[in-house]
Amino acid sequence: MKLYKVDAIVLRSREMRDADRILTLLSRQKGKIKAVAHGVNKPSSRKRGAVQPFCYSSFLLYRGRELDSVNQCEGIEAFSGLRADLDRISYASYLAELTDSASMEDQIDGEAFFLLLTILHLISRDGADVELLTRSFEIRLLDIAGLRPHLDNCVGCGVPVESETVGFSSSTGGVVCGRCSGIAGDVKFFPRGTVEILKLLLKWDLKKTERIKVPPRVRQQLRQIMQNYISYHLEKKLATALFLEKLYYHY
Ligand SMILES: [Zn+2]
Repeated sequence: MKLYKVDAIVLRSREMRDADRILTLLSRQKGKIKAVAHGVNKPSSRKRGAVQPFCYSSFLLYRGRELDSVNQCEGIEAFSGLRADLDRISYASYLAELTDSASMEDQIDGEAFFLLLTILHLISRDGADVELLTRSFEIRLLDIAGLRPHLDNCVGCGVPVESETVGFSSSTGGVVCGRCSGIAGDVKFFPRGTVEILKLLLKWDLKKTERIKVPPRVRQQLRQIMQNYISYHLEKKLATALFLEKLYYHY
């Protein structure tokens, strides 16, 4: 069959000439897919709504030799709560770019799909703790991608790290004990409580994230740990992450 159907979240929707768009989709059935949507930028196009970034839509795709194309599509959920708010739309753009960067094409990844769908629902709610949900998303996505940092035992010698101050090294992949802190040039020290919150974010019910109370100083440390770690392992700084920094953190 040349035609196939998927439910997918639009990770990226790039405008091309002739009113076309190139879409990067994360589908429930087939993982990441690239497809062209012809003519969707025309004001009269009925497909227009369903191909916007972060839309959850149903697609009928035509398998092409080089690139698949959108035959039909229909929006399931537009997450309108996201779109009216610069804060949320900036975070959602980051989540989509991170998912795109951390997942390979044709890698069937229902887990990443459901994680992203859940998080988009949660951050579009009023009163959502968007920053903490983002940290939670990051650590879970890394876990799914097989890139999760080691948070219990020292990556150098394997002993449980139980001191009040914990070293963390992105390049060696997690926490280091005091004796191994010379193991890499990028070891930075954090209170153990910060690392404990990171562990909690991995296991805690996502829908109850707001119940975890995290002071601003610890949020900043969590951001620093995750952003350094992600940049190191993806070998780049994401454009949307830089945008968030400019928007909110000014460093
Ligand atoms: Zn050690």
